Amino acid sequence: MPKKKKTEFDAIVVGAGPAGATIAIMLAKKGMSVGLIDRESFPRRKACTGWVNTDIAKLLDELDVASKQLLSRPIKEVAFHNADLSKTSVPKLKSTPGYLIDRATFDERLVNTAKRAGAQLIENCEITDLDPQESGVNVITSKGKTYQCKLLVLAIGASKKLRAQVGIARSDARETRWTALIEHELDAKSKDAPTTTYIDIVLGATADNGLGMLARQKDRISLTLNSPGERDAIIARIVELAHIMREKKMVTSDFPAKPTAVECAESSFGPALELDSHVGKHTLLIGDAGGFIAAVSQEGIYPSMWSAKIAAEVIGSAWGADISQDALMTFDNKWRLEMGDYLRPPNTDLQLLAPLIFSNQPMTDRMASAFFFGENI
Ligand SMILES: Cc1cc2nc3c(=O)[nH]c(=O)nc-3n(C[C@H](O)[C@H](O)[C@H](O)COP(=O)(O)OP(=O)(O)OC[C@H]3O[C@@H](n4cnc5c(N)ncnc54)[C@H](O)[C@@H]3O)c2cc1C
Repeated sequence: MPKKKKTEFDAIVVGAGPAGATIAIMLAKKGMSVGLIDRESFPRRKACTGWVNTDIAKLLDELDVASKQLLSRPIKEVAFHNADLSKTSVPKLKSTPGYLIDRATFDERLVNTAKRAGAQLIENCEITDLDPQESGVNVITSKGKTYQCKLLVLAIGASKKLRAQVGIARSDARETRWTALIEHELDAKSKDAPTTTYIDIVLGATADNGLGMLARQKDRISLTLNSPGERDAIIARIVELAHIMREKKMVTSDFPAKPTAVECAESSFGPALELDSHVGKHTLLIGDAGGFIAAVSQEGIYPSMWSAKIAAEVIGSAWGADISQDALMTFDNKWRLEMGDYLRPPNTDLQLLAPLIFSNQPMTDRMASAFFFGENI
């Protein structure tokens, strides 16, 4: 007889992206019963450039995720460009600034590790309602099924839903930030294919200080544009950037002229540092859902996993007796202490700094350190 699936858990994690899978692994390893729920099934496609910083290797080791194959493409060359790509500066890199990963494989590997650690993965299951109770939260699916947990972790990415139902709300509306992506697969054997792994960063790529990133590797080129503003204007601008890059032969002549994906780039909540609390009724908010995105680089994969690790530590130290709301509230201080500097925007306006980056080598190097290693400029 097939084993009956559980519907009651110590912890339920909604969202099995890097944040959700990370915390599911860590909580399951602590012996808690964990339900990991996602509306999609894995492997799932996720629009992403796939840049991760080098610190992720240590985190993957802690999670018992074999990293050698996932991190097999170190970034070899980096360049900064101005908005019309007429100026370029190349930083002197102290060390490898990161890796390019295949996002579908990366996320699937984390989810599989969570399963091995004992978490129950519930796929193709959209959560539409949350009903906080005295001693936990009822989590309700689009098909009307209810799962129960003592503790809920929301790791739902940029999705706007659900947070208000556990008392995490923001009064002021924020302008949406978008990421447009053009992805192009290449024949690695073609003579036009890049011979190494490059990252080109376009600073001030939109009037709203948007960020363009071109990632070139032997079998794939992808261009992203991340900016606040109007969706259509961002699409028009990425098309223009792709055109300039084709003319400059930075991309192949058949590089597409239309985005393959345009998505909300961050939680509508905005940056984590602007949110009063990431703690709701028996609930923690992590990853993109909580705005854990680095301000300079718009990097989200590593910060989302880092926020998950801190949340798991908070839950671990409070677990045993009933988890009190006071114990959960320590998450707010803990992540600010550990991650605040990494996420914070630079003290100086990047638009004012831009001319210096193209005329002064030490400034170029400092920009690279801020971008890839989270240092202040
Ligand atoms: C085009 C683009 C390019 C990017 N490039 C990079 C990059 O190069 N490097 C980088 O570091 N970051 C990049 N990012 C950001 C990065 O993708 C995110 O920061 C990262 O995915 C955050 O992980 P997460 O686990 O918080 O959320 P996600 O990975 O978004 O996972 C959330 C999960 O929740 C599920 N979910 C949502 N709502 C529900 C629901 N109601 N019920 C059930 N399941 C639900 C979703 O299906 C999803 O699987 C990019 C983003 C975009 C859009």
